[in-house]
Amino acid sequence: MDVLDKQKALKLIPPVHEILECPQVIMLIEQFGRDYVIKNIQLVMDAYRKEIDTNESVDPRLHNPTRDYVSKYLIKMLDKLIAKQHSNELKKVINATGIVLHTNLGRAPFPKQAADSIQRICEGYSNLEFDMETGTRGLRSSRIEEQIMHLTGAESAMIVNNNAAAVFLCLNTLAGNKEVIVSRGQQVEIGGSFRIPDIISRSEAKMVEVGTTNKTHLSDYSDSITDETAILLKVHTSNYKVTGFCHQVSLQELVALGEENHVPVVEDLGSGSLYDLSLIGLPYEPTVQESIQKGVDLVTFSGDKLLGGPQAGIIAGKKKWMDRIKKNPLARIVRCDKTTIMAMTSVLDLYMNSKNVVEKIPVLKMMALKESELYDKALELNELINSIFEGRIITEIVDDLDEIGGGSLPGVILKGKAVALVPRDLSVNVFQEKLRQAEIPVICRIHKDRVLINVRTLTTKEYPLVIEAIKGVLL
Ligand SMILES: *Cc1c(COP(=O)(O)O)cnc(C)c1O
Repeated sequence: MDVLDKQKALKLIPPVHEILECPQVIMLIEQFGRDYVIKNIQLVMDAYRKEIDTNESVDPRLHNPTRDYVSKYLIKMLDKLIAKQHSNELKKVINATGIVLHTNLGRAPFPKQAADSIQRICEGYSNLEFDMETGTRGLRSSRIEEQIMHLTGAESAMIVNNNAAAVFLCLNTLAGNKEVIVSRGQQVEIGGSFRIPDIISRSEAKMVEVGTTNKTHLSDYSDSITDETAILLKVHTSNYKVTGFCHQVSLQELVALGEENHVPVVEDLGSGSLYDLSLIGLPYEPTVQESIQKGVDLVTFSGDKLLGGPQAGIIAGKKKWMDRIKKNPLARIVRCDKTTIMAMTSVLDLYMNSKNVVEKIPVLKMMALKESELYDKALELNELINSIFEGRIITEIVDDLDEIGGGSLPGVILKGKAVALVPRDLSVNVFQEKLRQAEIPVICRIHKDRVLINVRTLTTKEYPLVIEAIKGVLL
């Protein structure tokens, strides 16, 4: 662009008040407020000036534009800019991946009762720290503690922000400046830079590693116990599997050794199921109640993995240790807010009072779905898609391999079903990308050049939302 062209292109920038009167912009103002929109119009105008000035513009029509075109161009930029600012805010998405505890998609979806309970509690005040009988200050999580004790058989319990915090708090309280013995085969790293050795050192305890990567024997532990030993730590290798020539010491053996030497045994169970997953056809996963029954001093586990509740960590075990943990000043730093407490209370209620807990807890329900049920779900979605987009998409019901996810039950593959989609006039890559950009995004995988809408992690209530997203792309 020569200097004169540039001057012309800059002169055609309409005044802000004119842009504010365009119907599209009026809609943005209704949604986001006038000041916010004006601020962004100014940003867009600056960007446009820079584009012209540096000849960066990729739009050839800007080389000799009309005033009307410049105005449209600016509004398009405005729309994009505002959309971008909001694209990463927390919002509902459709999980069509078949990964039940999808770490990037918020792990466990709540049971309806739990979601409703949060709304009930948060719109107004609650008795979070108020004792209804005496009318004086109460404890914020006393009900949850009773529930966990009831469900697991533990003498005492506590809820904190997440399992990482639960592990840390146990180590820091019981082992500060003293030694924690842990097997080399259980030096777990969980995603997000949670590593057992780092957590031990940050908790001011000293790690004593015993055994080898594949084999650790009881004598490895007993030979390492000294006056400085504060904890025998067992970590459930919940996100990987060692197979072949390997051995780990059982919880019972460790508990017996701990009792003999007056050293508490702490077990980080990770996923921490309250339900025996073998009842729904999955491999057996140790339950929390089993660890308590075997005499573990303390066990820690997540609230939003196999338990199927909100993000939280739970510590359960012997009262003498729990009393010390509750008094640790750091407990205040990792305490839960009322939304977590309310959601967890209702989830635990479902475990205590439901005749059919699998039906009530979404993650259990999804994991329990049988192939024939999945086929029926896929058939329903397939018919819906065909009835609306007849001819525009080629569809087929296909087998798919689902996962539990969330670092739980590694290596367990569930047989799943998906509706495979190939749009006639669009590449599958673009199709997948546009589904992700939908108002309610659909997150799905591509396999063998087809977009797979996996039905295990979809509820039939979400089918209309999938249809809306596809409509937005194709119609
Ligand atoms: C997942 C996991 C953690 C961390 O739990 P969060 O709830 O994600 O903080 C710790 N230890 C083990 C063994 C785990 O599997």
